[in-house]
Amino acid sequence: MSALVESEEHKSLRAAVAAFARTHPHIASPEDNRRLWQAAAKLGYIGVNLPEAYGGGGAGITELSLVLEELGAAGNPLLMMIVSPAICGTVIARFGTEEQKREWLPPLADGTRLMAFGITEPDAGSNSHRITTTARRDAATGDWVLTGRKVFVSGVDIADATLIVGRTEDARTGRLKPCLFIVPRDAPGFGRRPIDMELSAVERQFELTLDDVRLPADALVGDEDAGLLQLFAGLNPERVMTAAFGIGMGRYALGKALAYARERTVWKTPIGAHQAIAHPLAQAHIDLELARLMMQKAAHLYDAGDDVGAGEAANMAKYAAGEACVKAVDQAVHTLGGNGLTREYGLGRLITASRVARIAPVSREMILNYVSHQTLGLPKSY
Ligand SMILES: Cc1cc2nc3c(=O)[nH]c(=O)nc-3n(C[C@H](O)[C@H](O)[C@H](O)COP(=O)(O)OP(=O)(O)OC[C@H]3O[C@@H](n4cnc5c(N)ncnc54)[C@H](O)[C@@H]3O)c2cc1C
Repeated sequence: MSALVESEEHKSLRAAVAAFARTHPHIASPEDNRRLWQAAAKLGYIGVNLPEAYGGGGAGITELSLVLEELGAAGNPLLMMIVSPAICGTVIARFGTEEQKREWLPPLADGTRLMAFGITEPDAGSNSHRITTTARRDAATGDWVLTGRKVFVSGVDIADATLIVGRTEDARTGRLKPCLFIVPRDAPGFGRRPIDMELSAVERQFELTLDDVRLPADALVGDEDAGLLQLFAGLNPERVMTAAFGIGMGRYALGKALAYARERTVWKTPIGAHQAIAHPLAQAHIDLELARLMMQKAAHLYDAGDDVGAGEAANMAKYAAGEACVKAVDQAVHTLGGNGLTREYGLGRLITASRVARIAPVSREMILNYVSHQTLGLPKSY
């Protein structure tokens, strides 16, 4: 499979990231996380997709997803890679003003700054058309004033700013249209409360309150009238990167299970010789490989500038990877028997973590809805 779709350059990047990832022990604290992030950035991995003119690697989402997959396969899936370089970096690189590019892209690429992304709202959830975070313009100063609430936003505490999806009123129709704003972490009125998650990841999720957050005119990213288009440009990389997150985690769990199944002997042969153990692991491997193929297709379409084709492929890749990840982790835990639930082997915690790829950034059901309506032309129930 790899020979068909992966160039020599990609193979050597994959080998280099895998070798780098192996030298970093499992992340156990925010401090470890920061160290790994900065070491990866120093090697050009974090900003590999960002334009060379702004300190990035000049490559694409294909390369960035490869990096995240390999870090995850070594046990360290850097969740914020989905957000900081993939969504925020992409949106700023494609639609930001020259000043925004100069201010944000070099530090996002070299790992000295991070950006979070907030779209989810408590009363909108999967229905992002219902978001109510509103931006109004102060006619006297030209400032933007943002009001609203967000939920489940990852890494706001470690990010220097959050790219917030809000709405502004269309002067002609009075309808609210989506717009993107860069909100600095310590902006007055920008509150955050950590959500008590059942995840043992080092990145935390936050509920955010925007209480008349006043931002300068240049906090708006791109064109006020093309917010939706710009948003989708960032969401396709997000789906591809979530696929990479899931595939990496699935490969990590599978690797642990294989090592165990080759050694552990309770009858005459190692447990891996029993087909009840071997076949589900083989299926998990096949599912992960298939998901990776779809992810590579989506990344390729996106990097080739086909936003529409990439949309469908990225959704399918995220779906396939989320399912493959959940199944691989489930089977890996089961393969270890009681040890699957010990802290020593570290697989039990992945039962919760693997669900992230099924729920976020768009749930399994919403992708099935998308494919039912957009691809298959079936009618909508909602
Ligand atoms: C670990 C983690 C990190 C996250 N990080 C971020 C982040 O950084 N930024 C951010 O903005 N958000 C983030 N999210 C939020 C995430 O994107 C949302 O949780 C996700 O979009 C689902 O929204 P919801 O939780 O409101 O679920 P809901 O929309 O309430 O859905 C609940 C259930 O109903 C189903 N459902 C809803 N509508 C339909 C329908 N029409 N047909 C069939 N089924 C339906 C869903 O599939 C789901 O199973 C994160 C979430 C998690 C868990």
